[in-house]
Amino acid sequence: MNRIVIVGASIAGLSAAQTLRREGFEGHLTLVGAEPHLPYDRPPLSKQVLAGTWEPERIQPFDTGHYADLGVHLRLGRAATAVDLPGKAVVLDDERLGYDGLIIATGVCPRRPPWPHVHVLRTVDDAVRLSTALRHLPRLAVIGAGFLGAEVAATARTLGCDVTLIDPAPQPMARQLGPRLGARVARLHREHGVIVHTTTNVLRVTPNGVETHDGRFVQADLVVAAIGCTPATAWLAGSGLPLGDGIECDDRGRAAPAVYAAGDVASWHNPAFGTRMRLEHRLNAAEQAAAVARNLLGADRPYAPIPYFWSDQFTTKIQAYGILPADAEITLEHGSLTGDRFVVAYRRHGHTVGLLGWNSPRELRTLRAAWRPITPATRSMT
Ligand SMILES: Cc1cc2nc3c(=O)[nH]c(=O)nc-3n(C[C@H](O)[C@H](O)[C@H](O)COP(=O)(O)OP(=O)(O)OC[C@H]3O[C@@H](n4cnc5c(N)ncnc54)[C@H](O)[C@@H]3O)c2cc1C
Repeated sequence: MNRIVIVGASIAGLSAAQTLRREGFEGHLTLVGAEPHLPYDRPPLSKQVLAGTWEPERIQPFDTGHYADLGVHLRLGRAATAVDLPGKAVVLDDERLGYDGLIIATGVCPRRPPWPHVHVLRTVDDAVRLSTALRHLPRLAVIGAGFLGAEVAATARTLGCDVTLIDPAPQPMARQLGPRLGARVARLHREHGVIVHTTTNVLRVTPNGVETHDGRFVQADLVVAAIGCTPATAWLAGSGLPLGDGIECDDRGRAAPAVYAAGDVASWHNPAFGTRMRLEHRLNAAEQAAAVARNLLGADRPYAPIPYFWSDQFTTKIQAYGILPADAEITLEHGSLTGDRFVVAYRRHGHTVGLLGWNSPRELRTLRAAWRPITPATRSMT
């Protein structure tokens, strides 16, 4: 294997490049990125960068010297437009990059609602633009109360903005955490003065605010939509790669011979849970990319992680391991659900399938260490 191309210059792409070199790959290595920036970390975008407490440069883990030391040829500000699988080449407009191995780490694209003047938050440029707008303390409406929407609402409220959080589900983050924990998130936001407006959809956005299906009008100077993302696979249409909800890979992260995918764009069979998954979590992006890089070099090992994510809202840190099905039974493992610190287990058919900590990193770690990993007997039940 002499030439490896990585498409997507973010955390997964960076991790793949570092792993390839660490594992002894000495050939030609190219990292292609549509954004003009060096790889950077996205979690601070909705937190410190949005709040204006971190300069955007701080989220780049490495400067250009690191890539030079690694012998990585950076092609930034260049989007791959196609893959020619039989010809083993990535196409960048008028140029072809031949490869012996390919890793695709193109992440996801934010869904955009049909109205003008609605912001989204995915890139550092989005974050800087929004952060500048928040300095004027606008009345803010956030459409979509998943992780991202809830974090944007919390950051803006902490800065002093009047904030309304709008979502069709009965509770914020209900899809990710289930109804009981969703209700706890709603309480957290209301305690801090966010207006939580749930069980309603947006009818239209006007220059003055947001009209909802239940007949309300939310006055707003600034509207942010956080209504989910779709895998960045449009450029792969017709390539012959298996595309569904992301690039469909086997349990090694392989989508085709010598073609692997990692990070938010990858849907793969996770043997630990006996099911297909696609995660939009920071830790997974780095770990999956490292795993597929090793597999591309011949390791041939399944990637079977216990998913992990965190979210920071106000001064609350939410962390979770495993899966958190909305219909799971919730059992309290530490603290109190009405208090500021607790850990709950998500249980199905008598087995713990997930753990969630609320301001309780130490207790969560202890429980995680004692948590018997999913066994084949429980896999079929998750
Ligand atoms: C605001 C925000 C806050 C977050 N907070 C958290 C958090 O608190 N905790 C957590 O666990 N996770 C969080 N996440 C999720 C985490 O950041 C992602 O899981 C992670 O960034 C995924 O990395 P990735 O490399 O797979 O994809 P991405 O980071 O999406 O990077 C993909 C890159 O590929 C590029 N690209 C796309 N198409 C092409 C193409 N055709 N050619 C070339 N390049 C292309 C894109 O421009 C992009 O730079 C957050 C995400 C966001 C946006």
